[in-house]
Amino acid sequence: MQKQYAVIGLGRFGSSIASTLFEAGNEVLGIDINEERVEQFKDCVTHAVIADSTEEEALKAVGIRDFDTVIVAIGNDIQASILTVLVLKELGIRQVIAKALSKRHGQVLYKVGADWVVFPERDMGERIAHHLMSPNVLDFIELAKDYSIEEVKVPSSMTGKSLKELDLRAKFNLSVIAINSRGNIHISPPPDQMIEEDDVLVVIGRNEDLQRFANLQ
Ligand code: ATP
Ligand code: ATP
Ligand code: CA
Repeated sequence: MQKQYAVIGLGRFGSSIASTLFEAGNEVLGIDINEERVEQFKDCVTHAVIADSTEEEALKAVGIRDFDTVIVAIGNDIQASILTVLVLKELGIRQVIAKALSKRHGQVLYKVGADWVVFPERDMGERIAHHLMSPNVLDFIELAKDYSIEEVKVPSSMTGKSLKELDLRAKFNLSVIAINSRGNIHISPPPDQMIEEDDVLVVIGRNEDLQRFANLQ
């Protein structure tokens, strides 16, 4: 389903979000104060425009109010990042996602109304550290301090068995909520579902149990 997104700030982070959304078939408006950046990325988005996002009139002029979701990918200029989020929320943008460089910056972004603050350097660092510790873990979502959902490559010792035989609930206190079997997604797999080589299990549970499971060979 095609959606509309605006991305403000076409640095490395913003341009990566914008081009990924565009390549997936979405309509993407890219905005940057810097003419060279706009020129550089004009073919990676639907429209690219030069504007100073801290100026309400400039944002109105590029039609920002038509967008439901706006990503603020300005980092180094903290003042510009905060002002931009403030203006966007004042204009009534429903979902504003903003990049923060530090914890303090993030707190201020939430205070001025950001709906979701991301810390790309910190978050990517965490992900890589987790991956180094358990290479079978492809991705994870932290649900609470001690609980996560993880995508785990199935250990070879488990292939050719059914979920019932593996009995992950009893042995690891984990629930398999989906299986990605060579691109076919099985949601809420039944107990007789067979686990095949290269399957990826989406598993929910306590972090320590997930880690025990992901370290199996
Ligand atoms: P990244 O780490 O994502 O590569 P960066 O370090 O190159 O980003 P940032 O200072 O985070 O640079 O800015 C990202 C982009 O935001 C830059 O292209 C910059 O021109 C743009 N930008 C900064 N201020 C504004 C503003 N007021 N309005 C619009 N764009 C802006
Ligand atoms: P980040 O985007 O992760 O916050 P940064 O933009 O603050 O990083 P970088 O220039 O990427 O800074 O450098 C990261 C760290 O690497 C800094 O602490 C810097 O002091 C250190 N560093 C840079 N060059 C060298 C070097 N030649 N030897 C050792 N450390 C270095
Ligand atoms: Ca940067």
